[in-house]
Amino acid sequence: MASFDDRGAGAWDDEETMMALADVLTDVAAGRVDGHRCPRCDKALDCKEDDRGWLHVRCTGCGLRFDGMLG
Ligand SMILES: [Zn+2]
Repeated sequence: MASFDDRGAGAWDDEETMMALADVLTDVAAGRVDGHRCPRCDKALDCKEDDRGWLHVRCTGCGLRFDGMLG
């Protein structure tokens, strides 16, 4: 399997991961927070949306994470 350096821990820094994340974020924003899997390691993603509409995605396996607004 191809691999690349973990420059910043948790950084979504490659295009393929970003595209997969975009799909996850769209679902999370729509209220579907369960059943997502990490595009890097295929472990479960812990996803939630807070009161301000910020999306929080954290991988339970490799530690990738995203915190921010969609769009
Ligand atoms: Zn992962």
